[in-house]
Amino acid sequence: MSFRYRTSFDPPHHFRCRFRFLRKSQEAALSALLGGGALAGSLEAFAEEPARVYLETCLEVMADKANPGTLTDNSERLFSFGVIADIQYADLEDGYNFQGSRRRYYRHSLVHLQGAIEDWNKESSMPCCVLQLGDIIDGYNAQYKTSEKSLEVVMNTFKMLKVPVHHTWGNHEFYNFNRDYLTRSKLNTRFLEDRIVDHPETIPSENYYAYHFVPFPKFRFILLDAYDLSVLGVDQSSPKYQQCMKILREHNPNTELNSPQGLSEPQFVQFNGGFSQEQLNWLNEVLAFSDTNQEKVVIVSHLPIYPEASDSVCLAWNYRDALGVIWSHKCVVCFFAGHTHDGGYCEDHFGVHHVNLEGVIETAPVSQAFGTVHVYPDKMVLKGRGRVPDRIMNYKKEKALNF
Ligand SMILES: [Zn+2]
Repeated sequence: MSFRYRTSFDPPHHFRCRFRFLRKSQEAALSALLGGGALAGSLEAFAEEPARVYLETCLEVMADKANPGTLTDNSERLFSFGVIADIQYADLEDGYNFQGSRRRYYRHSLVHLQGAIEDWNKESSMPCCVLQLGDIIDGYNAQYKTSEKSLEVVMNTFKMLKVPVHHTWGNHEFYNFNRDYLTRSKLNTRFLEDRIVDHPETIPSENYYAYHFVPFPKFRFILLDAYDLSVLGVDQSSPKYQQCMKILREHNPNTELNSPQGLSEPQFVQFNGGFSQEQLNWLNEVLAFSDTNQEKVVIVSHLPIYPEASDSVCLAWNYRDALGVIWSHKCVVCFFAGHTHDGGYCEDHFGVHHVNLEGVIETAPVSQAFGTVHVYPDKMVLKGRGRVPDRIMNYKKEKALNF
């Protein structure tokens, strides 16, 4: 079975890209706060780190205050779940990203995680579970031979959480461990999957790390393996490595395969990956079942798949194939990803809300980066903390549940 639903991608111009609008309105509001005209240009103009962090913190506080009471209606709330991305813990001094433009708080990321867990544990409506969107420890751990120790530290912290956590795998997992190790590790949470009786086609194979579960009747969550096709974490002598390296080289002629320089499809870099046809076929079967069963579906993946909500360098290699499968069903309402660190959001023209969560690793100690999603019959409401903004994500009319 082949999934060539769409061979080209030409997004229409009428998307509601609220994250861009929000940035602009926040800047205008801050400018007014500072006496008008004090904030010249965009935030990016503030190259100096302390000034940028301070301003971002101001904006976050203002964003919180700008939405008083709008997210407190719990009259119809069905259930809630937590989301957190890119913790990238390492017992190291602060550093910077590859471009040198963003500070990384390797040690403090653990404090951020502890804060998130404390908040989730004492929420009045306790989340049913937490989705950890990948890159739980930083790749630097491999260099310092601290991979296992750092993973243990983070997993011991997660033990404080009173609800189950579903772990997604990102590129930093594969910088530290190979796929066999991850499969045997505590980062493999497939034991939390739900199986659909009499529908063996909805059981994932062992060739990729993906599963689905039902935290509340009529709501199915699907965790995807965005490094199913990847040159990371696989034995270089294996056929799979050869196949993936061929795909990568066909799209990226650069000597440095982590460089997107000059690429027409900049997502074809070594630190990204993609979805195998086998996994997409399985996803299609699960979504077909959910359509028939009139379920709402939330998809979780380390890599984003929607260009309007993400830096194009951070997308999954074959994001169009994943979108093709999702768009051929009516059940998907939300797609959560990490990886970009900056965050992003867009509702696509099929009514799927794409949320790229802000990464913990690039979050200043004075701020936070996690969220709780409250689920209603007609919408999902993300209550963000710190630099994660609040979002109200309405289902398209035909997707709303009738309880
Ligand atoms: Zn990543």
